[in-house]
Amino acid sequence: MNTKLINSAAGVINAALTQNRTAAGIALALDSAGMLMTPETAAELAGLRARFAASDHSVDEDPIAFALTDKADTDDVRPQVRKLRALLAGQDQQVQAARALHVKYPDSEHCQHDAEQWPCQTLTALGGLGGAS
Ligand SMILES: [Zn+2]
Repeated sequence: MNTKLINSAAGVINAALTQNRTAAGIALALDSAGMLMTPETAAELAGLRARFAASDHSVDEDPIAFALTDKADTDDVRPQVRKLRALLAGQDQQVQAARALHVKYPDSEHCQHDAEQWPCQTLTALGGLGGAS
């Protein structure tokens, strides 16, 4: 039940009643207010609502996060998903290559690559110690 809609319709009906309108006149007032719907339109609306409710992702879901899920493997998005996954895999390789350069001296609390205090800023920015991820 839509309380707001019912209150609006009651207002239209009440206004029509104060003008001593007939049942047809009340129906005409409701139609003029855009509050009547054909059975076909009502069925179409119900179908659309059911389809929307059955879809397993919300409209505000992050499209990139969705593209990384298996659900995204449909003909609609497969080429874009492949491109995105390849791009992310390439970036991951670059991060791992950069991470591999920054190694702690065995006898000092400093990075061999940039001589900064261990762990260095670059390694920290890349997600810290962890090697492959
Ligand atoms: Zn470093």
